[in-house]
Amino acid sequence: MYNIIEEQYNWKPGAKFVLQTPDTIVVHHAVCRSCSAQDVHKWHLDRGWLGIGYHFFIRKNGLIYRGRPEQFVGGHLLSEENNNTLGICLEGCYTDYINERGQVLTEKEVPQTQLDALVWLCLYCKSKWPVRTINGHLDYDSAKKAEKDCPGKYFPWDKFWQMLKREENKKLIQTFVGFHNPQGVWDAIEKHHPYPDAWYQQWADSYKKTCS
Ligand SMILES: [Zn+2]
Repeated sequence: MYNIIEEQYNWKPGAKFVLQTPDTIVVHHAVCRSCSAQDVHKWHLDRGWLGIGYHFFIRKNGLIYRGRPEQFVGGHLLSEENNNTLGICLEGCYTDYINERGQVLTEKEVPQTQLDALVWLCLYCKSKWPVRTINGHLDYDSAKKAEKDCPGKYFPWDKFWQMLKREENKKLIQTFVGFHNPQGVWDAIEKHHPYPDAWYQQWADSYKKTCS
């Protein structure tokens, strides 16, 4: 079972947050092999921002930390792009990257524990807010201009969509037959009606545009 670990942040003095109703989730990576939510908070303060710009931070071990409160506009995209979005950042560097000291930070695999936590968190956000879209940072103009591929070229989008759909279906089934061996029912359905890859792809594409 997952839960969200509450963190205490010292926000920039006089910080004023703007209310929002999130309808979009945006996935990022930290471009750092090992860091905490408090590290990110400090980096963002050092840039003169209000404090951590992401709403959630997921460690590689699957622990989920709260960043900026969900009801406030974050600072994980460029200016208005942030409106009504929830920013989720993954610890790790899932693209080809060499830092200024010449160290190779590239990590080619997102740990399963971290992906599992991300799927849970997306469904949590969907259950709480009218979320209709899940994007990567790379889908935004500001990232395209800066040639950023965040959450990294090694982020396994296909696997992520499959996991998300599977969990969504599981939830749906549990809603109807929750009192009677939901896992068994789900296993039987999946065994006899495996989704072909093309079906997943079609679903994932439609999800990018709008999901319900
Ligand atoms: Zn990003």
